[in-house]
Amino acid sequence: MNSQIVDKFGRPHSYLRISLTDRCNLRCFYCMPEEGIELMDKPSIMSLEEIISISSTFQKLGVDTVRLTGGEPLIRKNFDYLVEEMRNLGLAVKLTTNGILLDRHLEHFQKIGIQKINISLDTLDKAKSVFITKRDYYDRIMSNIQQALEMGFQIKLNVVLIKGVNDKEINDFIELTKDQNIGIKFIEFMPFKGNKWDWSKGISHETILKIVSEKYGKVTALDNPKHSTSQNFKVEEHKGSFGIISTITNPFCADCNRIRLTADGKMKNCLFANAETDLLTPHRNREDLEKLILETIQQKKYSRDGMDVKMDASQYENNRTMTSIGG
Ligand code: SAM
Ligand code: SF4
Repeated sequence: MNSQIVDKFGRPHSYLRISLTDRCNLRCFYCMPEEGIELMDKPSIMSLEEIISISSTFQKLGVDTVRLTGGEPLIRKNFDYLVEEMRNLGLAVKLTTNGILLDRHLEHFQKIGIQKINISLDTLDKAKSVFITKRDYYDRIMSNIQQALEMGFQIKLNVVLIKGVNDKEINDFIELTKDQNIGIKFIEFMPFKGNKWDWSKGISHETILKIVSEKYGKVTALDNPKHSTSQNFKVEEHKGSFGIISTITNPFCADCNRIRLTADGKMKNCLFANAETDLLTPHRNREDLEKLILETIQQKKYSRDGMDVKMDASQYENNRTMTSIGG
């Protein structure tokens, strides 16, 4: 079905990223401000039934895929029930997780046909992992990644590159693609409220490609799936591949098909959008959400919510933290 959720640039939207919670069992410094965040109070968070019902409204309008994220989505109680209900609606379900609790869910995912999982892993060094995440879960995450690979899941590792922290590990991650069919997604460091963003700490698309080519020689550009947020590549002879999400240096907005729903039920047209439309209150009042969704998408700006030329601090500092938007 063609999506009816079409913005004023003619882009149909068929992909909904749902944040299940703003809570997390890690404290990655680029995502969570050091002082923590003011957490949403429980009654303001969508219940599982509300998530299912609002998702089905989006589906009626043409959404066919949801990505469950957060905060950490796997800390949400009855997560397996939610995923099963989403699958029963006929939605494709994808997941982005830090991997800590993954082992509890893998068998169920296999049973209901979830194949693709994105796991955040910024370093292959245990001490550095503790520095980045402020928690000591490295061994558990690595063992869960191994288990998921052995069970045949298609795994992508999300790596946010930060100068002086993990930029020397780019080729260590590429090495993982040599004998395993694994995908690495290098992500340019993005600005959100309170994350002390400064592009001088970022590693650009161009630099990443240069570092990989210097070691491996020819790097082949792959065909990117429609609406892909990453540009994808492969080192010759390697089983796996890698991609680069270059939101800062080379944004991929032209073909954007994404909408976001925060854990407290606010629709956001873009990761960087300050404007939000409350869907949860009207849903609780049994009002019509379809009209509201179709009106909201008309406000979508072409690229990075209007930060087309540069990342403007007065805009992103008034956005939410990444953990409460849902990455
Ligand atoms: N907790 C889950 C996880 O870490 O995968 C899901 C939520 S997390 C917010 C989703 C993704 O956003 C992760 O891959 C994370 O690395 C990425 N992310 C968070 N803050 C970011 C930032 N400032 N710049 C780029 N990516 C960021
Ligand atoms: Fe938690 Fe994911 Fe943010 Fe890390 S990136 S603090 S795991 S939400």
